[in-house]
Amino acid sequence: MLDPALIADLRAARRIVVFTGAGMSAESGIPTFRERLTGLWAQVDPMEIATPWAFRADPQRVWDWHVHLAEAVRAARPNAGHEAIAALEQAGLDVTVITQNVDALHHRAGSRAVVELHGNLLRLKSFVDEEAAFAAASPTICRACDGYAVWESCDPYADRSDLAAIELRAGAVPRCPGCGALLRPDVVWFGEPLAVEAIEAAWNAVDRCDVLFAVGASLEVEPAASLPWRALARGARVIEVNPSPTELVGQCHAGIRGGAAEVLPELFGIIWPSR
Ligand code: NAD
Repeated sequence: MLDPALIADLRAARRIVVFTGAGMSAESGIPTFRERLTGLWAQVDPMEIATPWAFRADPQRVWDWHVHLAEAVRAARPNAGHEAIAALEQAGLDVTVITQNVDALHHRAGSRAVVELHGNLLRLKSFVDEEAAFAAASPTICRACDGYAVWESCDPYADRSDLAAIELRAGAVPRCPGCGALLRPDVVWFGEPLAVEAIEAAWNAVDRCDVLFAVGASLEVEPAASLPWRALARGARVIEVNPSPTELVGQCHAGIRGGAAEVLPELFGIIWPSR
């Protein structure tokens, strides 16, 4: 599968990053975004479903689409690839997972050091309508959701556990129990920035790593797409795992054509046979 000299370099690595995209969870039954026939965007225009403007225009439609995705996520189980990554960390290796996925399958597989670049679908937050917040005479910060609250419509006794009890389920779009704002999934939509803490944690891990595995990512969404290139520029060994290699494969140290669940257990078994 790999050149012996490269295997020796990988085995000597002290800090490992596994950077994952939607393909990581494909074998768990969650569709990817961009693949032509099965991808989620094959059925719908992302601008109509995954932007703050779409939610402002038709919150129920956007909610319903995310409910559908949430059902797939709840039904899914971590696959052998997620488990192989978690096993490395549990064996004592310094592994950071940086994921674009919003399905929390790395956590469910047992990984602890996980940077969720694009949020978590099953967590909710309030939709901050900045126009309304700025128009309000005296907006305060809601104790339940940290969004803006106009005091008269706010429940001063609501707290975070009231918000945490609300789920992404079929039905009318729920409202924050504190301030009454519409709730939305805590994911990064097109046109929204990544959380500063998340991208900084990702850059820190990439800048310190000796090896980065890029698994199941089409490398089309910035700033996440630049992470493997950044690792290469810093001198790390970079290995791509994808059934349809990206342009990274021409520049990185090895490209393995195949699915994450099939390739990762075997690949890690070759590099770290005693773990
Ligand atoms: P993408 O849909 O653009 O690309 C998927 C990639 O996975 C492709 O390169 C494809 O060749 C590869 N792939 C397909 N099957 C694979 C397998 N079995 N093993 C390994 N690779 C496989 O996805 P992306 O690059 O992650 O980017 C888009 C966005 O999609 C991200 O922002 C992410 O938040 C979102 N997303 C997340 C999920 C999820 O949480 N599971 C699902 C769909 C989309």
